[in-house]
Amino acid sequence: MKIIDAHVHFSNIGSFHDTANRLSQLSYSYEGLLQEWKENNVVAGVAMGVTETIHNNFPDYESQTPMGLDLADSVPRNLVHCVGINPFKMDERNKRELELDLQKSNVVGIKIYLGYYPFYAYDEVYTPVYQLAAKYQVPVVFHTGDTYSERGLLKYSHPLTLDEVAVNYRDINFVMAHFGDPWVLDGAEVVYKNRNMFADLSGLIVGTEAEINRHRKTRFLNHLLHALDYCDHYEKLMFGTDWPLISTGSYITFIKEIIPEKYHQAVFFDTALKVFPKLRGFLPKN
Ligand SMILES: [Zn+2]
Repeated sequence: MKIIDAHVHFSNIGSFHDTANRLSQLSYSYEGLLQEWKENNVVAGVAMGVTETIHNNFPDYESQTPMGLDLADSVPRNLVHCVGINPFKMDERNKRELELDLQKSNVVGIKIYLGYYPFYAYDEVYTPVYQLAAKYQVPVVFHTGDTYSERGLLKYSHPLTLDEVAVNYRDINFVMAHFGDPWVLDGAEVVYKNRNMFADLSGLIVGTEAEINRHRKTRFLNHLLHALDYCDHYEKLMFGTDWPLISTGSYITFIKEIIPEKYHQAVFFDTALKVFPKLRGFLPKN
């Protein structure tokens, strides 16, 4: 089966390098990504743009909107991205740069970092972002749930806070990254109730195969399994890893275990193309 990874990172962020070195034990590099993709038949991916102006400072309040990919000198041809928003950098020049980026073929969406930046999804600071998303018909991906930084503020990243934007902007598709974990039952309700809300299953476990094994043996996954069934819309869920937080192969095996087989084609491939239509032009030609 051909696979699309709907949530990876390809930015020079200190905490991602540290995690790759210490926890997930993989090569966070251009070559490292392509090697894992080759081994696992991942044919394309969507990276979430983010930058930091000072090493190990994410979430960085000084990074300019739009935030992109700066891990390597170049980006793999089949890796497209969502441009990242820093709500503290939304002046006229930033908005103009954001609009110019959205006109590029390899910019397939917008990423808003709820919790990392202290604004709710429905805050008016993001209104220009939604206007541009509607104009260029690209989805907006929200970080939701636990923050990968102690400096995050969780009330802003609760998945229930996405309901209001889903209702107010029915002409935009939204993605709830990480399914709102650990508030996945609330996340499931918001996905179930709103036809324009999708979710990715990235970042639910961070580390190596051993960490997945540890959770297989306990009740750790109960809340997630409950929410997946409650949501009852497997066709609105997308596979994503949050690479480099976990290796691609281990995470594919894990997601295959928790998604009924008849939905694998949708979760591992079809839904990503539906949500990110511009991605289609970057699939290998065969
Ligand atoms: Zn991520």
